[in-house]
Amino acid sequence: MTVYAGPVFDMAARQFEVIADHLSIPMDERERILMPKRAITVSCPIHRDDGSIAVFEGYRVQHHLTLGPTKGGTRFAPGVDIGEVAALAIWMSWKCALVGLPYGGAKGGVRVDPRSISIRELEGLSRRYMQEMIPFVGPHTDVMAPDMGTNEQVMAWFMDTYSMYQGRTVPEIVTGKPVSSGGTLGRREATGRGVAHLARRVMSDLGIAAGGATAVVQGFGNVGSHAALELHNSGIKVIAVSDHTDALYDRNGLDIPALARHAATHGGIAGYSSELHYDPAAILTLPCDVLVPAAIERVIDAHIAENLKCHVLAEGANGPTTPEADLVLGKRQQEIFVIPDILCNSGGVVVSYFEWVQDLQQLFWEEEEVVRREYQTLDRAFDQMVSRAKKDRIPHRTAAMAIGVEKVRAGKITRGLFP
Ligand code: NAD
Repeated sequence: MTVYAGPVFDMAARQFEVIADHLSIPMDERERILMPKRAITVSCPIHRDDGSIAVFEGYRVQHHLTLGPTKGGTRFAPGVDIGEVAALAIWMSWKCALVGLPYGGAKGGVRVDPRSISIRELEGLSRRYMQEMIPFVGPHTDVMAPDMGTNEQVMAWFMDTYSMYQGRTVPEIVTGKPVSSGGTLGRREATGRGVAHLARRVMSDLGIAAGGATAVVQGFGNVGSHAALELHNSGIKVIAVSDHTDALYDRNGLDIPALARHAATHGGIAGYSSELHYDPAAILTLPCDVLVPAAIERVIDAHIAENLKCHVLAEGANGPTTPEADLVLGKRQQEIFVIPDILCNSGGVVVSYFEWVQDLQQLFWEEEEVVRREYQTLDRAFDQMVSRAKKDRIPHRTAAMAIGVEKVRAGKITRGLFP
């Protein structure tokens, strides 16, 4: 029993067991690789607009420090807990190693519905959370980034708070900042762009032409909206989209740029069209070429996996597919090409790494350079995953995670056990 016990951590642990068995990692080595190095829980008190005081619980989990600083997003969501944050930190570790970044994984979270508090309260909470984390983070210790419920503005408040305590501007403490505060061009779009790039690549390998192809996207936040825009701009019809407010379906293809403008103004897709309303629960099983889950974990269970009607499953979210669903998808490999989350959404951390490098060097790149390097990094990891899956006759997720776990393990073995 650990403090992390819960459905999301259990899922990460079960996935690791599959990889550890595949790699024949000795039992006494497994815990050292899987269990997080540090977990921090903080109380964040803020003044509410009505003059009262409210306290929110915050977390940060740093999975391993073997290959460099830890790196990972910060999630503001009502259901977040230490187990979910730990699982997300572990996935970040395999992801960073898979794409060759000199980081361990980390993740943070605050148990709050960011839509239920005012902008002033959100700023107070963001600043207090960062202030509480100052003893545990740093540009060479742990670098934060956005995740669900946080955005560029929250990153700017994090960076400003840290910098005020240091007495100098430290842009390299967080990534995903606004470009005007030391962010990089291409970070806002990076995750969705990477999802779409890999989906297009698989479509081309499968002989599916963009013209006439269809896509369905669950979640219309940073990842989902940019993935949908990129797919739409490639000539693919995005026929259905959902978020926490509504689901929309149009067999002729939705006007994604107009929907993105609506969502940016109204905080969601609700109110865009009552005629196009669709059952949110049914969106994942619509027939389509590309399905992009880009919202929350564990939305594809075994039952949904049986009923998926896509050719490419491009996992924009972290952990959208349960281990039970993976067993089903393992039997449907000829019908559905899975691009697993740790590869599919890694464009975000890849471009975050570029942002960190640019901030450290105070030398900034053109957007074309950022995108070119992002695609090059994703393509290299994709090739490695596919050839490993073929060689070992294993599913893509197992192959991607095996590459990541192997690199972390190799780092631990060569450094040895201190003292
Ligand atoms: P976000 O907060 O910008 O957007 C989340 C979206 O999901 C919103 O549109 C919200 O309405 C929707 N949503 C929430 N619950 C839903 C539900 N039950 N059904 C349908 N839609 C729902 O968050 P984001 O940054 O886009 O992150 C989405 C996912 O992608 C998360 O799993 C996150 O960990 C992962 N991710 C994000 C990044 C990044 O760069 N932001 C990078 C890698 C992975």
